[in-house]
Amino acid sequence: MFDTHVHTKVSTDSEMEIEEAIKSAQNKNISLIITEHMDLKFPEKGLFCFDVDDYFKKYSKYRGNNLLLGVEIGIKDDCIEESREVTEKGLFDYVLGSVHLVDNLDVYYETYYKEKSKQEAYEKYLATMLSGIQKYDFIDSMGHIDYICRYARYDDRELYYRDFSDMIDEILKTLIDKDKCMELNTRRLSDENAAKNIISIYKRFKELGGKHVTVGSDAHNTTAIGSNFHVAREIIDLCDLKAVYFKERKKEYEKI
Ligand SMILES: [Zn+2]
Ligand SMILES: [Zn+2]
Repeated sequence: MFDTHVHTKVSTDSEMEIEEAIKSAQNKNISLIITEHMDLKFPEKGLFCFDVDDYFKKYSKYRGNNLLLGVEIGIKDDCIEESREVTEKGLFDYVLGSVHLVDNLDVYYETYYKEKSKQEAYEKYLATMLSGIQKYDFIDSMGHIDYICRYARYDDRELYYRDFSDMIDEILKTLIDKDKCMELNTRRLSDENAAKNIISIYKRFKELGGKHVTVGSDAHNTTAIGSNFHVAREIIDLCDLKAVYFKERKKEYEKI
């Protein structure tokens, strides 16, 4: 099975060498799609971007049946065409689209939550996601819908389907209409409560007509590669979804 969301040192926030990633994946009997960060027009200039030619020059020799080369594109209103060009420039296997910035603030940092109730902060995040996926029609899968839960500064950081059902439904319907996958991000799946809430969102995805999910750990180091994949398999079964990965931008079914 592929871990379809992995960063190496080409990404600003990872120091992992690709050889280390490959070794760790082999030990775990997992294949990899490398998805380096490309958040164009990141507020701190030059961060979270990489040189596409350089990336392919360095990493093409590792490419094969068990290692594919993708990109994690930051979904943002002010760089849609530039992002599209990036995905067309390189011969990527896979394009994952993710919201990291809302109102040009990284939801990783406390500033985003200042003077915002949880309701406001989460609504804005989901509204950015919805408008983003309507325009970023060149992605294959949408990354970590629960990204904000990792970093929000509230006692209860969960994204409850029932609290944002209208907006979440719109997001899911848009993905389904455009034949896009949802990523099942495994980062938070060791937390039972998180898994429970994630399940309600993926069940709804299925109810609305969704079929395909990509499974990714968002690993930035070797330990995280393939983490919680056993939980992901259970969730996929429970929600009656199919796991897929992308090779040369084409959907391939996982045998799990
Ligand atoms: Zn991400
Ligand atoms: Zn990532």
